[in-house]
Amino acid sequence: MLDRPVLVLNRFWQAVHICSARRAFALLFTGQAHAVQTGDGSFLTHDFDSWRSLSQREPEEEMVNTVSFRIRIPHVIVVLFFDRIPRREVKFTRHNIYERDSNTCQYCGKVFDRKDLNLDHVVPRDHGGGTNWENIVCSCIPCNTRKANRTPAQAGMRLIKKPERPKWRPFIHLTFGTTLHESWKHFVDTAYWHVELGGDPTAS
Ligand SMILES: [Zn+2]
Repeated sequence: MLDRPVLVLNRFWQAVHICSARRAFALLFTGQAHAVQTGDGSFLTHDFDSWRSLSQREPEEEMVNTVSFRIRIPHVIVVLFFDRIPRREVKFTRHNIYERDSNTCQYCGKVFDRKDLNLDHVVPRDHGGGTNWENIVCSCIPCNTRKANRTPAQAGMRLIKKPERPKWRPFIHLTFGTTLHESWKHFVDTAYWHVELGGDPTAS
């Protein structure tokens, strides 16, 4: 039960991370985080003592037993000292390039199985093109063959969009296959998918 995932919010109530209940209790106990009580669209925060009395007043099925009392496991905590939006660059991996391009050939715009897509250097390497976000795109095999070792201009082809480093990281999608707890939904709506996320900002 202490491994249950807990959503971590920063001071601005933005979802920044997921930690274990064990870690959440450590942050709560040391005063570095408050537990968030969710329900009926309202949110109350509790420090450790107040969370402990809430647990006595309104017990839940899932509780942790300590030597002298039982305590509820929070679903959401807000970390008090952490106020920046965490930044971590999206790793430049094959998987993430396919994700960025939505498995779509960037020349003909059709969606393919990953096995039918290549990674293409927009400006070929022998023309000085780099291996980076701005110069690598997904390309289907026919487009790749047609383009050959030429720039798009030389091949008379056009990219459907300019390749860029992705600005987002869908951290929950990537990290957890589990469904979101009901109480998380308010914090993890589409707006938050555009915030750069990652790492463990609560780890010091
Ligand atoms: Zn194509």
